[in-house]
Amino acid sequence: MPDVTLYDTRTRSLQPFQPRDPARVGIYACGPTVYARVHVGNARPFVVFSQLKRFLEHEGYGVTLVGNITDINDKIYTAAKAAGVPSDRLAEEMAAHYRVDTDRLGLGRPDAEPLATEYVTHIIELIQRLLDADAAYVAEGDVYFRVRTVDNYGELSRRDLDQMDQGEGVEGASLKQDPLDFALWKAWKEGEDTSWDAPWGKGRPGWHIECSAMAEALLGVEFDIHGGGVDLVFPHHENEAAQTLAARGAPLARIWMHNGMLELVGEKMSKSVGNIRGLHEVLDDVGGAVLVLYFSGGHYRQPLAFSDERLEDAKRSAERIKDAARRLVQGESPEALRPHRDAFFAALRNDFNTAEALASLYGWIREANRSEEPVGNADLKEMLDVLGLEELMVAGAVPTAEASELAQQREQARANKDWAEADRLRDALLAMGWIVRDGPDGPELVPAS
Ligand SMILES: [Zn+2]
Repeated sequence: MPDVTLYDTRTRSLQPFQPRDPARVGIYACGPTVYARVHVGNARPFVVFSQLKRFLEHEGYGVTLVGNITDINDKIYTAAKAAGVPSDRLAEEMAAHYRVDTDRLGLGRPDAEPLATEYVTHIIELIQRLLDADAAYVAEGDVYFRVRTVDNYGELSRRDLDQMDQGEGVEGASLKQDPLDFALWKAWKEGEDTSWDAPWGKGRPGWHIECSAMAEALLGVEFDIHGGGVDLVFPHHENEAAQTLAARGAPLARIWMHNGMLELVGEKMSKSVGNIRGLHEVLDDVGGAVLVLYFSGGHYRQPLAFSDERLEDAKRSAERIKDAARRLVQGESPEALRPHRDAFFAALRNDFNTAEALASLYGWIREANRSEEPVGNADLKEMLDVLGLEELMVAGAVPTAEASELAQQREQARANKDWAEADRLRDALLAMGWIVRDGPDGPELVPAS
């Protein structure tokens, strides 16, 4: 297999990709908390890790992609209360929207999309294990993780212990033995309309332990790639890693990959800033392929500027690809174009650089457009498939040599008044996707659809 390197956040370095088992590569990418419809920024990790799976499969690996949906969270309680609906119904409704909206990207679904509510038994078992190991403690029905039991805590996010804020505010502050500790379980409180029973009391899991439990249930510990937005490095991923190490004595994941955020006029796109656009709204405007092409135009680790201009650029690029695809014929691509195709895959092997890969794809197209001979479409199809952009591979409007030959034979049959043979050839052409139309310069072939 060709060498693939990926940037690992934990070691801050490019690492050779050496999976535990090439036939069973495991990727876990943190998905959304479903308290509202997802915004276009939430689609970036979905796109990056769906494309990464396609690419690794192209390289010959077998890949399982897990993309969780967080359906137990404070944000859901808050949003449901504000909307006056039960929190489980709100979560269910928003999870359904999420599936429909991300379906429209045309990248397919992850292999598993666990919901936290389906894994509460696993979560309780993992918390119990941490309690048994004295890495956690119960305080008035809450359970907290004892951060200082983990030697390398802070390694992933490279923060000083003194500079860390778990973002849990005043909630539970008086119950924590150390301000650095974070909640694994929160006791049920008045006004919360869902709860689960645990040996230490009724309540619900914290966000970080949900992911540790779902990831190990589906992929085991020390799986290959843990991904998500760079905003999740601390505290979410730091805490996932700490919990699993303390409970299992093994790292959660081998490589940590983080995608950059979408930025709007120099600031991060977020609900709190109020500058967001719903994923479904952007899809209504430009469609899935253009949006995926837009995302692919930036290196996944870099922030990506979001603007109407950038979307317009992507729209024009999509047209350019479609125009080129229309001029191609079915079949192998010429050797002369190989270097562009090879450069495309070399860029992806080098820390999954889709931006550089696309530059090579456009180089391939430029050269194909210049060719006076018919150009086979195989390379372009292969490249677009890996990015999940096969939709841009519109049927060629240039008949293949075989179709042209049949059209000539049909003309000959008509000249010989062999109508049965002419009809047979017409049907054969239709089966190949061509309709014979009589134009001013004689019969011509047009695509059947
Ligand atoms: Zn997560």
